[in-house]
Amino acid sequence: MPRFDVISQGEELLSGSTVDTNAGWVCHELAQIGLEPGRVTVVGDVLDDIRDVLGESAARVPVVICTGGLGPTSDDLTSEAAAAAFGQALATNAEALAQVEERYRARKREMPPANRKQAVLPTEATVLENRLGTAPGFRMEIGGAVLYFLPGVPYEMKAMVMEHVIPELRARFALPPRRTVVIRCMGIAESVAAQKMEGFERAGVIVGYRAHMPEVHVKLHLAPELDGAALVLEVRERLGNVIFGVDCGPLAEVVGQHLRARGETIATAESCTAGRIAAALGAIPGASDYLLGGAVVYSNAEKVRQCGVDPDLIAAHGAVSEPVARALAEGIRAQVGTTWGLAVTGIAGPSGGSPDKPVGTVHLALAGPSGTTHRKISLPFERERVLTFTVGAALDLLRRTLEGDT
Ligand code: ATP
Ligand code: MG
Repeated sequence: MPRFDVISQGEELLSGSTVDTNAGWVCHELAQIGLEPGRVTVVGDVLDDIRDVLGESAARVPVVICTGGLGPTSDDLTSEAAAAAFGQALATNAEALAQVEERYRARKREMPPANRKQAVLPTEATVLENRLGTAPGFRMEIGGAVLYFLPGVPYEMKAMVMEHVIPELRARFALPPRRTVVIRCMGIAESVAAQKMEGFERAGVIVGYRAHMPEVHVKLHLAPELDGAALVLEVRERLGNVIFGVDCGPLAEVVGQHLRARGETIATAESCTAGRIAAALGAIPGASDYLLGGAVVYSNAEKVRQCGVDPDLIAAHGAVSEPVARALAEGIRAQVGTTWGLAVTGIAGPSGGSPDKPVGTVHLALAGPSGTTHRKISLPFERERVLTFTVGAALDLLRRTLEGDT
């Protein structure tokens, strides 16, 4: 596979005031079409530094993507650095100038003289139109390498990658078109998924993994002649029911679709997650069809008041216990009058743990027409991740129950 380097240019990336999201995005998109990420370099607004990394990358890989530094200000040095790196002169490029002027005309604004600088390019550069901003991009052919120079503004850069870079690279390297199937999983670690998928790759099939907390996505990049459905079935045999959907939305959307299809409703009672489960369900458009309400029951008093939990039960077993989780689920179901009552109680940490109930101990319960299911999980994480994974586990308990697999 042809390799590529990404160069992210800008002082604000080095100082940490802007996070470099461009490089990761470019790596992901180019990997999708079958190129291999080589190296990512972040470089500040220093002419010699930019010149050096450009020269190095052009000598080591056949594709270089450079973002940022195409603007009109004195700290925008990319064009100058490219000219220096490859021994070319700088000159106003008529086509680039026409594009910059056209942008201002379209916005009915006077072009500041400084913006002429955006049209000053290395003499052998080819202009790439930037439909969404003023700074045109450009392409250079150096030895066997092609270098793309794109604006730093993420949405301008992304549009140019899609419009110019990807079609050109596909043609240049005769990359076969690929389809991507995204298999979404809950309740499995990325490393475990990868282990179970070992040996799955074959001609025309590349497998990728992405941790998308609390989900894990397994991606199949497929040659067009392959039968995606048959391959997904094979993946199901390996991974089992941790798969909650294929090419679908997040888990909250999948359970929402189940509930809507069945004409059923749900209410939540949340102790440690304080409303996050309801919020996840409610983030899906149309959730009002099935999400009727929910209670945040942090204190014992509220567990009693809002969900009718017997105070003696809390005294006997503690708030983080199976009986209390069950009582919360049954209580909220009865109070709101829904098909399902989903409840969680747990210890998110960092404090509040004990030897028999360490931080990360969570009890989930789902009350429904044919009784109440309970699950205890232990999450060896810090607070934020305990909460994120608890939401995932609660929605997954609902999903598995709705799908008839408990
Ligand atoms: P402009 O004409 O807007 O100046 P430019 O090509 O010179 O475009 P930069 O000045 O380098 O681009 O960046 C413009 C803005 O885009 C930055 O202030 C920053 O907010 C964002 N940006 C630049 N590079 C990156 C990056 N690698 N990741 C995320 N955001 C970026
Ligand atoms: Mg700039």
